[in-house]
Amino acid sequence: MRALTVLSGGMGGARFLQGLLHGVREGLLPGVDRDAVVTVVANTADDIWVHGLKVCPDLDTVMYTLGEGIDPERGWGRREETWSVKEELAAYGVEPTWFGLGDRDVATHLVRTQMLEAGYPLSAITTALCRRWLEPTLGEGLRLLPMTDDRVETHVVVADPDEPSGRRAIHFQEYWVRLRASVPAETVVVVGLDQSTPGPGVLEAIGEADLVVLPPSNPVVSVGTILGVPGIRDALRATAAPVVGLSPIVGGTHVRGMAEQMLRSIGVEVSARGVGLHYGARSAAGVLDGWLVDSRDADALPALHEAGLAAAAVPLMMSDPAATAAMAAAAVDLVTR
Ligand code: GDP
Ligand code: CA
Repeated sequence: MRALTVLSGGMGGARFLQGLLHGVREGLLPGVDRDAVVTVVANTADDIWVHGLKVCPDLDTVMYTLGEGIDPERGWGRREETWSVKEELAAYGVEPTWFGLGDRDVATHLVRTQMLEAGYPLSAITTALCRRWLEPTLGEGLRLLPMTDDRVETHVVVADPDEPSGRRAIHFQEYWVRLRASVPAETVVVVGLDQSTPGPGVLEAIGEADLVVLPPSNPVVSVGTILGVPGIRDALRATAAPVVGLSPIVGGTHVRGMAEQMLRSIGVEVSARGVGLHYGARSAAGVLDGWLVDSRDADALPALHEAGLAAAAVPLMMSDPAATAAMAAAAVDLVTR
């Protein structure tokens, strides 16, 4: 196999990609060439305009992680970051104060915003930014594509007794960063999704892949939004490549993040089985051929098999690139053996 396509969110997706690339380069993935090209279709529904800057958290997390610029403890933003811009804005009393814009990170958003204002689409801007982060180490081996060039924004509806309706829609970043996903999400509304079109190269990357992977990213606000771009779900259903996914839910909850809150908001059982059945088998109107669950969720296998999925249970904790490469190898094996 020479072409792998991964539909990714931010932290879970980026960590998986690190391990996947390690596995490709070390020849650890059965049937995958060491010089295979990995194309990442990244979620852009987390994007937010803040202080006049266009911020794309998932694109940046993937780019910084694979380019070794990420802060490894936080899992987002730049390593060796300083926060003078944020402090100065707060001193002026400028809202929002809850969004973390680091000084080094600001440069990325300035470049992106200026290029947007000059008329470049997000896809071309992302390619330009990746010239710094990915080309020197990964060359042509990795392509990072936004799911769409159109503006799409996830909003979360939460209870608010001060509103006449008793509820309020807030930007996904406000739910996650300011509220820490600590209150229930009633629903998720993805503004602009139905009118969006796939970014350049996205449908081709799915249609011409040798393998498509759904990493352990958030099934609602990362993979769910990518699948919601009109045309992408159909491309996944139609591709000749096998499609395999890895569960972000382990032992009944997310490992980190807020997949649990998001799954509840759309009425999907918070379990490895629930997410696998939610994606569904391609043989039954879904998007997957295979679904990998963690060893401790092995009791989900009979129901997954019954739903028409190839399924297996292996350790799914992305503790380091070697462990993650082993997960990727098991995923490849599941749908190609
Ligand atoms: P975000 O955009 O930063 O939220 O990142 P993603 O959507 O790509 O991934 C978030 C998901 O990764 C969370 O819902 C977690 O359940 C999942 N996750 C994080 N670490 C691990 C891990 O070590 N193993 C597994 N199986 N899932 C993980
Ligand atoms: Ca995200």
